[in-house]
Amino acid sequence: MLKFLGRGSAFADEHNSAYFITGNDLVLLDCSMTSFIKLKKKDLSSIDHIYILVTHTHGDHISGIGMLVDLMYFTAAIPVTVVAPSEEVKEDLRFLLERLEGCSDSWYELTVASELNKAWFVDSVATTHTEELSGRCFGYCLDLDGRRVVYTGDTNTLSPFEKYLTEGSYLYMETSAYRSAVHLYCEDVTDKVKEYISRGVNVYLMHLDDEERIAEVMKDTGALFAPIEEGEKDMEDKNLLDGIFDITDSLYKNMCMNDSKDHALLFSYLSELGKTIVDADRASFWKWDKRKGEIWTMSATGVDKIVIPDSTGLVGKAIRSKKMVLTNDPYNDPDFNKEVDLKTGYTTKSVLVLPVADINGNFIGALQLINKNGDKGFDADSDPKKLSLAALVCGIALESETFLEESHHDKLTGLKNRMGFYFDFAGKYKEYLLPESGKTMSVFICDIDKFKRVNDTYGHNAGDDVLAFVAHLVEGECSDSDSVYRWGGEEFVMVMLDTDLDGAATKAEQIRVKLMESDIEADGNTIRCTMSFGCNLFDPKKTIEENISVADGRLYLAKEGGRNRVVKADA
Ligand code: GH3
Ligand code: MG
Ligand code: MG
Repeated sequence: MLKFLGRGSAFADEHNSAYFITGNDLVLLDCSMTSFIKLKKKDLSSIDHIYILVTHTHGDHISGIGMLVDLMYFTAAIPVTVVAPSEEVKEDLRFLLERLEGCSDSWYELTVASELNKAWFVDSVATTHTEELSGRCFGYCLDLDGRRVVYTGDTNTLSPFEKYLTEGSYLYMETSAYRSAVHLYCEDVTDKVKEYISRGVNVYLMHLDDEERIAEVMKDTGALFAPIEEGEKDMEDKNLLDGIFDITDSLYKNMCMNDSKDHALLFSYLSELGKTIVDADRASFWKWDKRKGEIWTMSATGVDKIVIPDSTGLVGKAIRSKKMVLTNDPYNDPDFNKEVDLKTGYTTKSVLVLPVADINGNFIGALQLINKNGDKGFDADSDPKKLSLAALVCGIALESETFLEESHHDKLTGLKNRMGFYFDFAGKYKEYLLPESGKTMSVFICDIDKFKRVNDTYGHNAGDDVLAFVAHLVEGECSDSDSVYRWGGEEFVMVMLDTDLDGAATKAEQIRVKLMESDIEADGNTIRCTMSFGCNLFDPKKTIEENISVADGRLYLAKEGGRNRVVKADA
């Protein structure tokens, strides 16, 4: 029946105050400051008149009235009628509003409940509370759509209300967790409440100074806590939290089911998380490639992949200085790179960059947020704090990604290694392994001829240089759909998608000739060397190992046949 803006005692965060709307009237029962704050955020566009029924003059019941009068008078122009339960309280309220709050008497109407000519009003019910408020403390009896509603306000007795508690009525009663002469102590009212409920009265509790304890004491009575209404702020927080949980849920599911072995989605979820948390328009996640002196986006919402030198831009500044960068006036920041805006027509108004570190504290990337929504700009305290969770997770994810990436690569040649080979087969080549896909893929395995001799003649360093040269040469012959791996020592494997056996052999032949004709500068020597190749059309019915073994058999034939040649068939 009643909706509660707060149901707490004087020392609570949200004080007792309820309301109902009937027609275009909004009727408040008491108006504490905490209720005023909630009310202020409400959509009152359908309200023509506000009535405030006052129970008594304690601050936790009436401290928002003056503010509400001011607000309605100066902004919404909704008339406010302050309803006193008696003539005495009316005079007290007049004194308070005029002398203490400074509200002109023309900004509101002050009346006594008995003069209120409203169908929903039944009675103001005198009750007892502190000595000082003797004769000035009331509850209310109302009729809402034919239902009896009793609101006790603060009281130390239920007796004045009993006569109104007919079957089917609603009783909103105060209940305190502390024994005192001025409130209803929870343990003293359990039997009464049970009796009311057995008579068909709906009992709701308010003035909850210790919800946990009161819930425990009242648990078998059948009474419920007054139904607190979620305020706009609560809703905003709830929506934000829901948004965050939606993303973390997607993140979690992606982590569990990422059979594409593509981490881009993971980073885009993490950027999205940052964007949602601080309510920004764009988010991007940057990886720092220290070796190349570059930073590049792992994921950017709203723009394509961007690669920039690490000495430029606000992201570069954050990474180099190992500090957060925040600007709400980027065009006047000398480190801001306007290029992207100029290219895309976007206007950057605010930027927040948090550098992210690995678990050893080495900076490895940065999370960048652009344009805080609502033109407020980023807040130097709250936004980095909120973003820290996303930045932390980004750091850990980036670190594992980097580790994984490094473990798939060979340091000497920079090529992918055998682990990278199997990783690609589990990911990007997956469909080529399905016989029904009808896709064609070929491989060759090649091995430098008499390489041991290079080492023996020119030394290991020269051997290393030759290996790096050959790797580079082979890689240079790769098209977008080819990949080359260092299979072991001086052996390489090339995988060619959508390529038949002849295509593979042709490519192998090109590489063979090119290498044969190359002068290799190796540790101060000029060396020439050759390679032998074994090719195979990938048979998806066989395992990866069996397929490589077929190619390896042909490589052996090439060696047997005199080396420096390409073999694409078994003997
Ligand atoms: P074949 O034509 O039959 O392939 O003769 P080979 O000498 O190339 O074959 P073998 O397998 O006997 O020798 C391979 C040599 O490659 C032995 C090993 O020391 C050398 N090797 C393997 N990995 C590296 C490396 O990373 N650096 C250097 N410098 N040498 C390496
Ligand atoms: Mg060899
Ligand atoms: Mg070998």
